[in-house]
Amino acid sequence: MAKVAVIAGDGIGPEVIHEGMRVLKALDEVHQLGLSFEEMDLGAERYLRDGTTLPPETMDRFRDEFDAIFLGALGDKRVPSNVHAKDILLGCRFQLDLYVNFRPVKLLDKRRCPLKYKGPRDIDMVVFRENTEGLYTGVGGQFKRDTPDEVAIEAELNTRKGVERIIRAAFEHAKQHGLPSVCMADKSNAMRHGHDLWQRTFHAVAEEFSGIEAFHLYVDVLAMEMVRAPERFDVIVTNNLFGDIVTDLGAQLQGGIGLAASGNIHPGAVSLFEPVHGSAPDIAGKGIANPLATHLSAGMMLSHLGHPELEKKIQGGVRKCLLNNQVTKELGGKLSTKAVTDALMVHLGVA
Ligand code: ATP
Repeated sequence: MAKVAVIAGDGIGPEVIHEGMRVLKALDEVHQLGLSFEEMDLGAERYLRDGTTLPPETMDRFRDEFDAIFLGALGDKRVPSNVHAKDILLGCRFQLDLYVNFRPVKLLDKRRCPLKYKGPRDIDMVVFRENTEGLYTGVGGQFKRDTPDEVAIEAELNTRKGVERIIRAAFEHAKQHGLPSVCMADKSNAMRHGHDLWQRTFHAVAEEFSGIEAFHLYVDVLAMEMVRAPERFDVIVTNNLFGDIVTDLGAQLQGGIGLAASGNIHPGAVSLFEPVHGSAPDIAGKGIANPLATHLSAGMMLSHLGHPELEKKIQGGVRKCLLNNQVTKELGGKLSTKAVTDALMVHLGVA
């Protein structure tokens, strides 16, 4: 039994979530998973209607009643401040303490990779991006704004607790999945306080996991190595800003933003799963959005809910869609959002 809150969101969000739900409900029926879903009235439409972004009582319900949140995308031109998206996404991230941003970089079809001579065996890693601290907390300020003497400070927040738990989560994942190495990336040669904390914490935690190779790269070197020799990496752990950037590099290595899935996770508690792409207003309503990132995110959610074999199954189905060119236009195919999902459901045996 598990209860999932569904936030379809804006732009292509409702289109891809609709398809994601078709697959989830079919898998639920066939495999008797005992899933229940509640569609939440949140997003730009709701905000424009009554000014609500994310009410505190909904947040309490997420925490107390649900096991997972399945989100499409947030962002709408009619809300230029994007306040609803910030309140919902950052609200969940911080108030539910979703400290792991989990981003697999897994190439499923060699032809989708922009790197010459690299294939699925080379590009198969996961990134653990710290999701609640770093440079994204808004700590800082502006002084003498709009004058020639203006000063703006954006402070990077690193706590021992925050750094330790994300590093530990990365090692735990490596251990659980039999992965041989964890790479920590920072910029400790230039950022001597916060990233020294990362260094010390990494070495201390690594000692608890003696069977796993622990190595360090400066983040600039990591960016080069992910392109030159992606086969070096199994698990990467890094801070919020660097993780934001290297996971987008990773998304391209695995075939583009339409194939990138993500989890915002608090291990053992309610967690949020969403495709990496945004609301893509340019293609919204046309029925051509690629739903595969959503299906992969649904797979990740099923794994979080105790069904890792179904995540593997979905990955296998998505791989078949890619190999058969059963894909949307941006990946060079001809199928609609719905037709791609129909094809996936055939591969999953739930059509
Ligand atoms: P937001 O501000 O919500 O992040 P955005 O348009 O700036 O929206 P994305 O939504 O990530 O950013 O889109 C970037 C580009 O990628 C757009 O041109 C969009 O059409 C394309 N794109 C994003 N997601 C998909 C998808 N699922 N299928 C096809 N194309 C997509």
